[in-house]
Amino acid sequence: MTEMALPKLFDRAAGAEPHAYRTSLCGEDILSVDQFDREKLWYIFSRAHEMREVVEDSGGADLLKGRVLTCLFYEPSTRTSASFIAAMERLGGSVIPITQGVQFSSVSKGESLPDTIRTLEQYSDVIVLRHPEIGAAKVAADYASIPVINAGDGAGEHPTQALLDLFTIQEELKAIDGLQIAMVGDLRFGRTVHSLTKLLSQYKVTLRFISPDILRLPLSLMNQLRDQGMDVREGHEVGEVIETADVLYVTRIQKERFTDMAQYEEVKDLYEITPELMKRAKPKMVVMHPLPRVGEIHYSVDADPRAAYFRQVKNGMYIRMALLAAVLGRA
Ligand code: ASP
Repeated sequence: MTEMALPKLFDRAAGAEPHAYRTSLCGEDILSVDQFDREKLWYIFSRAHEMREVVEDSGGADLLKGRVLTCLFYEPSTRTSASFIAAMERLGGSVIPITQGVQFSSVSKGESLPDTIRTLEQYSDVIVLRHPEIGAAKVAADYASIPVINAGDGAGEHPTQALLDLFTIQEELKAIDGLQIAMVGDLRFGRTVHSLTKLLSQYKVTLRFISPDILRLPLSLMNQLRDQGMDVREGHEVGEVIETADVLYVTRIQKERFTDMAQYEEVKDLYEITPELMKRAKPKMVVMHPLPRVGEIHYSVDADPRAAYFRQVKNGMYIRMALLAAVLGRA
């Protein structure tokens, strides 16, 4: 495939060949964003650009013909599962979808995760796993001899979402360095926040975290950012960041992670992005959300050109096409 002309941000290291990136992802598990440095990000983003062209030109390609993906989801999903399925099918591959019916599989008979994984790998070339427990993807990867991609492990990480989030920021604003990114909502349980924050810590950005006290970013992650010398600040109100933010990354309060429902009731309606609030934001500010939204962004904001969350969804498919091709050695 031809090399794309990309913004400076994604310039490869001098002298490095694309082949090196390809081979470094081939056969790899994708468990955490910690696996991605700026060079690997450049590689994935440039391939995602190509995937967009392929889809726009001809709907897809035969790059993964004969390859099989198993989508194994122990938690609900719309976008992540559908976009992995779409990505695989647009590249000519096929999918074993265990996305809505884990309760109808042998899991409901008490089968362990390792046994389920060691079974499904007999049929497939790559497994995409979502699981309610932090670290489950790592456990699966330890047992599997084929690549495992973490599609969300409890309140841990969601690396492929973070890749598409970062790609969206780049696509929308044509840069990442120099931006102020404000994250709003459930920063404690929101795995997309954890992964995106870690990726952003590789850039010269300022980070603002807006949440109620009980949903602050985990201290270990905050300390990591501070140790790196990053400009980070926490607050409680969206009004504190609405005029300065370049990106407003809004998240859902993760009801399913609360053990005390009274606490959830206290915080569930704290934030709502409205057209009135948007009037105070920069003309080029971008509103993002990993979705689903359950009241954090008023529907009337959707018509605002700064609302990027559905473009973000589409970017997810291109990123996952790029990732599947890379992991399966067919970039
Ligand atoms: N879809 C995202 C996730 O799976 C965000 C959310 O559920 O709120 O983490």
